[in-house]
Parts: sequence; C-alpha cells; structure tokens
Amino acid sequence: MHIDSHAGYLHVMNDILSLENITKRFDNTSAVDGLSLPIAEGETTVLIGPSGCGKSTILRLVTGLIRADQGRVLFQGQPLERKDMESFRRHIGYVIQDGGLFPHLTARDNVTIIARYLDWLDSTMAERLVELAELVKLNDEILDRYPAELSGGQRQRVSLMRSLMLDPEILLLDEPFTALDPLIRFELQADMKDIFRRLNKTVLFVTHDMNEAAWLGDSIVLMRDGRVVQKGGYRDLADRPVDEFVRRFLRAQRPPEAGNGGGP
Ligand code: ADP
Ligand code: MG
Repeated sequence: MHIDSHAGYLHVMNDILSLENITKRFDNTSAVDGLSLPIAEGETTVLIGPSGCGKSTILRLVTGLIRADQGRVLFQGQPLERKDMESFRRHIGYVIQDGGLFPHLTARDNVTIIARYLDWLDSTMAERLVELAELVKLNDEILDRYPAELSGGQRQRVSLMRSLMLDPEILLLDEPFTALDPLIRFELQADMKDIFRRLNKTVLFVTHDMNEAAWLGDSIVLMRDGRVVQKGGYRDLADRPVDEFVRRFLRAQRPPEAGNGGGP
C-alpha cells in the first residue's frame, strides 16, 4: 500500500502487483536493470519509452513467461514463486501487438479456448461470450470467422475478449493498437478507455505513443535502458520533467497541450 498526497487530498491505494529491484539480462544486454515499480489496484499504468527500453520484458516477467535474474514480483503482497505461476496466470489477461490469435481457430474458439480446457458448461460460455461481445462492440456473427477474415481492429477486439474471458483482475496489453491505422486506432482507444473504467480492472499498458499514454493512463511510467526515469500523471512529466531525456521524449512526441493530456 502507498499513500499518495496528490492534489492536496490523501488517497490510499493498494498495490496489487509490485516489482522489486528486477534485473533481467539477455546475453550482454540488460533488458531490465534494477527496476522497482508498484502497480496500483484498479488503475491503468502505462509503460512508455523508446524501443528496446524493456517494456515488453516487464510484461513477460509478470506473466511468468520469463524469469528475472534478480528481484521479485509480489502479487497482493506475496512473492510469486515458480510453483504459483500456473494459478497466478488465471488472474491475468494478456494481449500482444498482433493479437496472437490462433489462425486455425474461429474467433469464438479463440475466445473460449481456456474455458473449454477448464470444462466450463456450454451455457456459461455462451453467456459470457454474449457479455464480452457487447462490451467490445462486436457482432455475434463475426465470432464464427477465422482471424484472417477479420480486420485488424476486429482482431484486437477478439483478443481483448479472449483476455477477459476468465474475468482476470489484471490486464496486460503490449502495444495492442500499434499496427492499426489511425482511425481504427482512435476508435479502439476511446472504447478501451470506457471498458477499463467500466470493468475497474488493474491495467498495465505498453505503448510508445505519449498521446495514447496520456489518454489512457492514470499513471505514466517513462522508461529508458531498463530503468524508470519518471513516473506520474501526464502533466507531471510535461510540466516537471526530471531531466533532459524526459523533456526531449515529450517534445519529440508533440502531445496535445489541452487539459490533463487531452485525448485522441
Ligand atoms: P521494448 O518492448 O521496450 O521495445 P524489450 O523488452 O522487447 O523492449 O527488449 C529490451 C531489450 O532486451 C532489447 O535490447 C531487446 O533486444 C532485448 N531482448 C528482449 N527479449 C530478448 C530475447 N528473448 N533474447 C535476446 N534479447 C532480448
Ligand atoms: Mg515491446
């Protein structure tokens, strides 16, 4: 738990996840370098920074797909051990840049794959599918199509349905809109913000687009070379950059000047 005295009032937040002093090397590169980061429950935390700064590695460490060389990840205050990973994975949904859908399965079968493995009742699955399709604004009939028969935006909506199927507490999204054209991206950003707010999930969202970060993030974590350079709201970074890198990164992205970051 930490106390945030932001804007003159006290705000007590629980950290659902906490990364403590994490280091991860690949050969000679430090992908993540002694990074500590608390993730507040129910908020959207955006990881942003130049390509190669370690954003995806952090998400993969949280999923347990890779293990840290040093440091630990706490979930609800408890360190995650290797033996906990399988049950912990039920608490997380994960969406990657191209959606990661299985090409030989229909959208419906992609969404329900884990639920079927867990022997859910057909009626329970069907109800959940209706709920999720409505949430992400997809027509039921689209669910009978294969990924190759869907647009990029539809594929990402299906991926989001799949990640939400088991109702996880935590959503990890790794540049889910990067490959989409600007209009589709704009719509998805707007819908996603609405979905995050309605579901009240803890979201860890990776992007390299400051405009997207400002629109979606309660908290923005600007990274460089596997470390956190600055964390805060968009205005904190824009108005009180801690160093020249932060200033340059924000200037290069030419984000909106309006309000607390504006939107797409
Ligand atoms: P980002 O998502 O911020 O672009 P990544 O987390 O993917 O960055 O990568 C961080 C660094 O670690 C990069 O230098 C990348 O080349 C390296 N890296 C990531 N994954 C691997 C891997 N499986 N093998 C070797 N190097 C890797
Ligand atoms: Mg990446």
